[in-house]
Amino acid sequence: MDFLQPTTWQEALDLRAERPDALAIAGGTDVMVDLNFDRRRPGALLDLGRVAELREWSAEDGRIRLGAAVPYARIIEELGPQLPGLAMAARTVGSPQIRMRGTVGGNLGSASPAGDAHPPLLAADAVVEVASAARGSRMIPAADFYTGVKRSALAPDELIAAVLVPTATGPQQFSKVGTRNAMVIAVSAFACALHPGRRAVGTGIGSAAPTPRRAPEAEAFLAGELEAGGLWESREPLPETLATAFGEKVAAAASPIDDVRGSAAYRVHALSVMARRAATWAWTDLMREVA
Ligand SMILES: Cc1cc2nc3c(=O)[nH]c(=O)nc-3n(C[C@H](O)[C@H](O)[C@H](O)COP(=O)(O)OP(=O)(O)OC[C@H]3O[C@@H](n4cnc5c(N)ncnc54)[C@H](O)[C@@H]3O)c2cc1C
Repeated sequence: MDFLQPTTWQEALDLRAERPDALAIAGGTDVMVDLNFDRRRPGALLDLGRVAELREWSAEDGRIRLGAAVPYARIIEELGPQLPGLAMAARTVGSPQIRMRGTVGGNLGSASPAGDAHPPLLAADAVVEVASAARGSRMIPAADFYTGVKRSALAPDELIAAVLVPTATGPQQFSKVGTRNAMVIAVSAFACALHPGRRAVGTGIGSAAPTPRRAPEAEAFLAGELEAGGLWESREPLPETLATAFGEKVAAAASPIDDVRGSAAYRVHALSVMARRAATWAWTDLMREVA
């Protein structure tokens, strides 16, 4: 197996084009598991670890441009205030060792329905920036990125450059249920983001459908009820009935399966509870911001 080690982004894209048999590797926390279990035997590894551009983040036009290879530990350390939902999700990933190595680019590359970065990226309206040597860059909204179980809109000759995440303008929450508290794949997960400026609600569901997905009807329902009740202005407490109805609508957007980690029925129930609680926590945070 060849080991390709570009040091610039252009070189990485050229190698991606030249070696269709190469498997990109960033933190390696998914790739090395696959190699060790002999699930994959690529002709080459395309190591992105020395491409400095991928390990940088910057703030631009109300968004954070997060390089694909920025590890979770740095998101937690450096981006909590700007990207609270993603930072909360990052805190739940694996162990300290996994968070030092694992990256959002790798989570997107694997496109597992259980990946923890996906729900907050969906809730925040993130956009995935991908590029190829032949066609340059293109932007893919997170909601269009996931196309099937562990499948994505990334073309074979493309690499993920970055993810563009709007800087939070309101509270965000992330909640995950696993079979134990740490080092587990989510049985189901949920993220929400309040966007008080445009009076909108964002959601992201994980591990409860073939792909991570939003719950658009639940988003429109909650935003509409907050509007109708004048709550966006008054910032009065979120009525429990409204939070419960929101939770039920989020759960209705899921289409989970039974597997070793949990039954479909449990996943639907857990989602309704997580969504109810996450909306209440986020709304309470918004009330505190005003107080
Ligand atoms: C013990 C353990 C615990 C874990 N716990 C969690 C958890 O709690 N939550 C969770 O979500 N995940 C978890 N994972 C899975 C893994 O850590 C994450 O999916 C992580 O985000 C992968 O990032 P990476 O940089 O290590 O990816 P890699 O393993 O390097 O790559 C993963 C995939 O993405 C592709 N890829 C990587 N970078 C790019 C790029 N820039 N462009 C195109 N393709 C790219 C690779 O080719 C590969 O297909 C765990 C893994 C282990 C081993």
